[in-house]
Order: sequence, then C-alpha cells, then structure tokens
Amino acid sequence: MYDRPLKILLVSSEVVPFAKTGGLADVAGSLPKALATVGNDDLGNDVRVVMPRYRQIEGDTYRMDFPVPFNNRFETAIIRESSIEAHYQDRHKIIPVYLVDNYHYFYRDRMYMFDDEAERFAFFCRTVLEMLPRLEWQPDVIHCNDWQSGPIPLYLKTHYLHNNFYNRIATVFTIHNLQYQGNFPKEALKVLGLGEEYFHPERLEFYGMVSFMKAGIVYADIVNTVSRTYAEEIQRPELGERMDGLLRKRSADLYGIVNGINYHEFNPREDARIFRNYDQYNVANKKDNKFALQRELGLPVRDVPVIGLISRLVDQKGLDLIAKIIDDLMTQDIQFVVLGSGEQYYENLFQGIKVRYPEKMGLYIGFNAILAQRIYAGADMFLMPSRFEPCGLGQLISLRYGTIPIVRFTGGLADTVSDYNTATGSGNGFGFSDYSEAHLLNTINRALKLYRERQEEWQRLVANAMGLDFSWARSGVEYLSLFQQAMNKHLSVQRIA
Ligand code: ADP
Repeated sequence: MYDRPLKILLVSSEVVPFAKTGGLADVAGSLPKALATVGNDDLGNDVRVVMPRYRQIEGDTYRMDFPVPFNNRFETAIIRESSIEAHYQDRHKIIPVYLVDNYHYFYRDRMYMFDDEAERFAFFCRTVLEMLPRLEWQPDVIHCNDWQSGPIPLYLKTHYLHNNFYNRIATVFTIHNLQYQGNFPKEALKVLGLGEEYFHPERLEFYGMVSFMKAGIVYADIVNTVSRTYAEEIQRPELGERMDGLLRKRSADLYGIVNGINYHEFNPREDARIFRNYDQYNVANKKDNKFALQRELGLPVRDVPVIGLISRLVDQKGLDLIAKIIDDLMTQDIQFVVLGSGEQYYENLFQGIKVRYPEKMGLYIGFNAILAQRIYAGADMFLMPSRFEPCGLGQLISLRYGTIPIVRFTGGLADTVSDYNTATGSGNGFGFSDYSEAHLLNTINRALKLYRERQEEWQRLVANAMGLDFSWARSGVEYLSLFQQAMNKHLSVQRIA
C-alpha cells in the first residue's frame, strides 16, 4: 500500500460538463472528484484530467503550445486549461482539466466519426505524453479510457520506453464499451510512428486492421472494465466482440469496477431541474413530479403507472424486445415515456408507437438533460432491457430517484439490480435473464402487479431504492487500490526487464 497521495491523470475523449455523447463522459467527470477527495491523505489525491478541445468548448484559458513529433513532421499542439470542482464534506478541491487543441483535428462540427479518426486520436495521445514534462508533472498512473486513449500505453512501451521521465508511469486501461474498438486500415501504423513489425497478432493487428482498443488491452499494466459481470462476459465469444481470446490472455490483469454516480448532482432533495423535491422520507411528493411530467409531455394527468426509458437508440439497448411487446403492454392502463436519439430505425419505431397510442406515449427525440431528470423523478419504473450493458448509469440514477428499474440481467445491470422478492422484501428492482420478449413482458407485468395491488409495499421498495448507495464512495476506493496494483505491477515488470 502507498501511504502518500497519488498523482493520477485521467484521459478521456469526453468529460462532463465539457462534452458528452454517453456514459463515459459522466464517469470521466465524476470519478476524478471521488479520487481527489478519498485516500490516505486528508487532502486526497492529485488528480488531473485531459481531453481534446472540441469546438463547442468555452471558457478555458491558454496554457502553452509546443511542437509534437507526429506523422513524420511536427504538428503544433495548444494546451488550454479549465477545471472541475470536487466537494467533499466541507472541503472543496479544484481539479485541472487540460484541453488538447489543434485547429485541424478538433475544430469541427461534431466530436467523432471522421475519416481521419486514427490520426486525430493518435495525435491527441502523443500530445498528452508530450505535455507532461512541460507541466513538470509526472503522474504515478495514467488512467486511459476506451479506444481513443489506447495508444498511450502503447507509446509508453515504444517511443518513450527508454526515457527516464516516463518509465515510472503505470497505466490502467478501462473499457467502457468493447463494441467501439477504433479499428483502422494498416496505414494507421504510420500515424502511430511504428513499423510493420507491429502489424502482428501479438501486437496491434486485429483481423487485418490496426486496433486502438487492442493497443490499450495489450500494452496497459492493468485492464479494467466497468462491472465485474461485464469483465467476465467479454472473455466469452458472445459478448467478446472478437477480442475474447485476447482478454482471456490478460485475465490475470483484468478487473471490473462498477461505476458510481455523483450523489450531489443527482439528488432528488435538491435537484433544481425537477418540479418538486423529495427524499426517501417523503416519497409521496414524488407523485407531483409525475403529474408535472405528464403535463409537460401533453399526456393525460392521471395517477397511472408511468414507465420511463432514457437511452441512446441503438441495438445494444434491447429496443427490439420493446417493439415486440408494445401492443400487449399498451392494452393496460399505463403511460410510457421515452427520451432518446440515435438510429433512424428506432426513432421511427417510437414515433410510430406515439402515433398509435397518443394518449399513452410521451416521446422526445433528441438529447435533453433537463427532461431526463424530470423523467427520472416523475416515472414509477425505468426500463433497460439491454442486450448487453457494460455498467449502465440509467438504472443507478433511477434508483436514486426512487424509480424502480426493470432490467435484463447483463453486465452492470446484473451487478446493481436484484429481483424483488415479495415473500422476503429483498431486491431493488425487477429483472430477467433470457433475451426474449416473453420474459420482458412478464417482468414488466410483475412490476405493474405489485404497483397496482400492493401500493404500500411498492412505496417501501421506492424508499429502500432511494436509501441505497451507488455513489462513487466505494468504487473510488476500489479504483485507488487498482491504481496501486498497476504501480506495483509496473515496478515488478521493470525489475525483470
Ligand atoms: P451509454 O453509455 O451506453 O449511453 P449509460 O446508461 O451508461 O449508457 O449512460 C447514459 C447516460 O446518458 C445516462 O446518464 C442517461 O441518462 C443519459 N442519456 C442517454 N440518452 C439521453 C438523452 N436523449 N437525453 C438526455 N440524457 C440521455
């Protein structure tokens, strides 16, 4: 164990509140706050964050610029700086956020999905490492997240291997979603500044491509993912996305730490975005949020069970199961409220349902953080029948707001939601394992039955859910010990070498 504060650099392609497309941004914005305030020292750890500076980001200040050796030339990187604030009991800490700017690579109208993605993120990673000596700051560990930062562990074991400034730095690579791998044509080796010998199955070659995700998995000291169950699942072919063999090879170094959520930000007692505040001792007030939500979405204002869904509209989320049961479900006296955006097919699907059941379906296609809170607060149940789910944040936020999750038991959903048992009163939600519409419908019906027939028991379930702790407190401590393990591992490998 280390009895001194750690120096931790978190690298992410998106961070709340600067840029977000998914759960990664929430984690990258909230985990540093936990790490900064927990630990062996009263002052917590020295945590800093780095991300690309996309065009929409504002309010940062210029820090420095320098030439980065890249792609056989020098490319100028500008480092800007902003911060996030961590509050813990009566302390508060400022966490620096470095923003890597380059007009050519990041001054664009969206964050991802360009033809030169390999070049953009290889440049980002190279700049992160070049920045450190110029900041005169040597982290103990660099925590990389998803394929966009996969080249960092690779660079440390190639270009920077014999450089004294870097060779003490340990790396942890966290997989937030194995489906997005950053696989590129072989020419990507050139932007990484590496020769043909790296186009090898033991290194970066992945089914004829160069994989940035694989770079992270192969070269990091420790590989991590966002729940224990997902860490198991990705070592099997069904959810291994063709990387299961590689992950099995690294299984001794593969961990899973479930994400937390920020309990200050997501707090029904103080949330200014919702209609009426409430807490676990005052669950009755939650109902006013339901009525306000119904009014906002133009639904009849009535005390019927409201099922909410907030999601990226993609295959992963199990939406095809909903399509198959919707007509059965809508025969009942319920309301279904959906907020999401994504694939056209699913947007059309929900729009179609809205046309058929205008009095029962509330729909908002798009991204809307305020409406999201109003749904978390106003709905009675929250639906997440995911095909796979590395961790999932929706079910954690809904538990915090006393909105009972109905989930498929996969990945983080299996680790955080347990089936309610009417006999013993144990469990915090409802779930099923087999990916089938019959199981989904049956599970929703079990929840509806409890809601309708045993309101008192339901209210107890709601109050219990709100009393659970899925804040970062526990997972933050787990991350710290993972970082220490990475440092030990790094040291011992170095000794052998
Ligand atoms: P994923 O990372 O796969 O998208 P998560 O459940 O881990 O799924 O995280 C999704 C996060 O994004 C949650 O905080 C959820 O509330 C939020 N979210 C998803 N879609 C929307 C939307 N259309 N509007 C507002 N928030 C959304």
